[in-house]
Amino acid sequence: MGDSIARKALLIAVAVALPPAVVIHLSTPSTTARLASLGFGALLILVSWLLARSLAWRINRLTDLADRLLDMSVPLPELPASDDELGNLARSLSRMAPRIDELVNRLRNELTRREAILAGMTDGVLAVDARLNVTFCNNAFIKVAGDHGPAEGVPLIRIVRDPMLYQIVKQVVDSGVAQRQRLQLSTPETLSFEVHAVPLATTSSRGAMAILHDVTPAEKLERVKRDFIANVSHEIRTPLATIRGYAETLLDGGLEDEGNRRKFVEIIQANGVRLNNIAADLLTLSELESGRSGAQPAPISINNALCSAIRAIEPAAHLMNVQLLADPIPDLYLLGFGIRLEHALLNLLDNAVKFNKPKGEVHVQVRDRSGDHIEVRVSDNGVGIPAEDLSRIFERFYRVDKARSRQVGGTGLGLSIVKHAVEQMGGTVAVESELGRGSTFIVLLPQCSRPRG
Ligand code: ADP
Repeated sequence: MGDSIARKALLIAVAVALPPAVVIHLSTPSTTARLASLGFGALLILVSWLLARSLAWRINRLTDLADRLLDMSVPLPELPASDDELGNLARSLSRMAPRIDELVNRLRNELTRREAILAGMTDGVLAVDARLNVTFCNNAFIKVAGDHGPAEGVPLIRIVRDPMLYQIVKQVVDSGVAQRQRLQLSTPETLSFEVHAVPLATTSSRGAMAILHDVTPAEKLERVKRDFIANVSHEIRTPLATIRGYAETLLDGGLEDEGNRRKFVEIIQANGVRLNNIAADLLTLSELESGRSGAQPAPISINNALCSAIRAIEPAAHLMNVQLLADPIPDLYLLGFGIRLEHALLNLLDNAVKFNKPKGEVHVQVRDRSGDHIEVRVSDNGVGIPAEDLSRIFERFYRVDKARSRQVGGTGLGLSIVKHAVEQMGGTVAVESELGRGSTFIVLLPQCSRPRG
């Protein structure tokens, strides 16, 4: 460029100086005049060329300065001070430099922050340009779509294998209208996503951005809630219908039926007790699940908790002709909630008695496991549990033999309460069983040191 200005100035100077010099040379015989015109022409050309060179050099310095404005890590070149227009331009560029630097830094920080936010989001984020080439996608999206190597610049069709998701993004790019849709994607397990795709418009082109929000846990929760409400309604409906039926029978003349009226009232009372048991178990379960116990865990003696649970079950065991056997209980402690532990142990003992045979046995053992855990085993030689039901008996309302459970006053919530209570105290509960031979429930709880005093 500098060369070009100097060359152009040289050509112009030659074009201006040469014709008069030639005319003077041809029209005058005087050697002095001829030499003077030649000298003057040569001087004119030289001065013009030098001026043009100096101008070109200064413009080059300005270009250099402008080039470095976006990279302030390199120091800006010193510009010679002058009062002409180029000097003004140089000063103006130098004044702009720090402001441009600040602006570039701010943009860079903003971009880094946005990229960090998008990358760290648990929702999948995908952006495409107008030609459906990926311009950005975060890790959460790669987890959903699968890792197919670097995604930037790659056609969307090669990254997204799900036709519905591809279609949503394409439609938003084509129409410029936002879309919201629920999709199931195999990732490889099937998960549900709420996809929200919005157009991304720049002045020159249109793209789209899609956000994939995993709604699988929410859907699961909705399903659990629905099932729970259905189960509760079902459980309550039977005793309520029985109570209503017998009350109506009594009103329709049953009160005068001396032979049966007592039996009718007893049935009403038994179903009232059943409803009460269901309500009490639901309340306990909801308290355990919400975790709002209010109380702080305290050291509990396993001996005390187990003895009071055994005392509470003795009358029922006696009634069922089931023998209760307990090995000597070691003096061990755990950090938890006394009433809850007692409730859980009572539920296990209650089941061991309920699902037993006449003259059956229930055996209770407590062991110190490696000095850091307490193991409680409640074994019976009762009906046992089929292998296929073992994994489900801790679910709410799950019963192997519904009729038998109802007959013995079961709610189907006892083992859920045991599981929640034990887990709340940092423990686990497991079961071993053989159909027709009996079951053993094993509770493992972390030990704590004996309280002083
Ligand atoms: P329920 O109120 O019916 O006892 P639980 O939640 O306590 O409800 O138990 C769920 C089911 O597990 C019972 O209905 C029963 O079928 C089975 N079960 C629990 N404990 C025993 C046991 N000791 N022996 C045989 N079956 C048992």
